[in-house]
Amino acid sequence: MSRFWSPVVHGLTPYVPGEQPKLAHLVKLNTNENPYPPSPRVEEAIQAELASGGERLRLYPDPTGLALRQTIANCYGVSVEQVFVGNGSDEVLAHTFLGLLKHDRPLLFPDITYSFYPVYCGLYGIDYATVPLDEAFQIRVDDYLARGPAGVGAAIFPNPNAPTGRALPLAEIERLAAGLPDCPIVVDEAYVDFGADSATALIDRHPNLLVIHTLSKSRSLAGLRVGFAIGQAPLIEGLVRVKDSFNSYPLDRLALVGAAAAMADQAWFDETRQRVIASREKLAADLAALGFQVLPSAANFVFARHPDRDAAELAAALRSRSIIVRHFKAPRIDQFLRITVGTDAQCAALIEALTAILA
Ligand SMILES: *Cc1c(COP(=O)(O)O)cnc(C)c1O
Repeated sequence: MSRFWSPVVHGLTPYVPGEQPKLAHLVKLNTNENPYPPSPRVEEAIQAELASGGERLRLYPDPTGLALRQTIANCYGVSVEQVFVGNGSDEVLAHTFLGLLKHDRPLLFPDITYSFYPVYCGLYGIDYATVPLDEAFQIRVDDYLARGPAGVGAAIFPNPNAPTGRALPLAEIERLAAGLPDCPIVVDEAYVDFGADSATALIDRHPNLLVIHTLSKSRSLAGLRVGFAIGQAPLIEGLVRVKDSFNSYPLDRLALVGAAAAMADQAWFDETRQRVIASREKLAADLAALGFQVLPSAANFVFARHPDRDAAELAAALRSRSIIVRHFKAPRIDQFLRITVGTDAQCAALIEALTAILA
């Protein structure tokens, strides 16, 4: 606390990121990073950008990130005006909350979802209401539609949702976008590459639909900080107006070239995500064999509870064996653990530890 703070700072409730412990030999399954390295072309591109002693770093990067946006546009079969890039999808989300989701009527999102959403609402003074997931932890589109156009300013949810891992079919997303045609509908697809269908396929038909992606998960680049949004050009223009009122150069030269290299390497992307998906299916089966209830996951993590063991105690017992998973002390989910899919060796270490703990 300081008397020098602006009044708004006293009222903030900041997001708490999953911890990044400095210990070596830790099995780190708490922040949904990819266990495999990024495409080797990322390092080549960054090295090339650093040529001649980093001489190019003297100059500002392209404020529009045009080359990266063109690469992303090619990947998704959209035009470059339909792509926005930012410093991690958290920054893209921040600009989206201010630029598209702040209205007189409330913003809707699930009661169990990415915990950064209420933080942005606090920062930007956005009125919001949460919509409960059903008993199977699924989004019920009818609950959003039932509020009627007069009761909704906009809606946002991750697909697959976090931390549940459950995916919503594209037809349901389309029903929401079509049912609330005057409301921006934002789909946060941080995990979509691990098993759900991307709503980018719907943007041509729905001018109110924005899809947000990150390179942190499926492209193994959480440390590079690159995210992007895809939607019709007027939505993107709104984000650019916010960005150019905040930071004209959110992506540095190394991030721009590294991200473009990762997006262009489709073969690497397909191989690593298939490995993660295969490991997830084995991990879910192994957890079920230990008596866990495991929600069906379309993400690179599983959400699981054990009927006889307290989740916080399980997390602590794992931690004492140098395995870190995520536990949320939140209503409805405080008996669940969110476990990132690691390498097969990491998953085996987790199962071995849980077997010992449960014995
Ligand atoms: C990880 C995550 C993000 C943030 O990704 P960054 O690009 O690393 O900022 C956004 N949304 C959800 C749901 C996530 O899980």
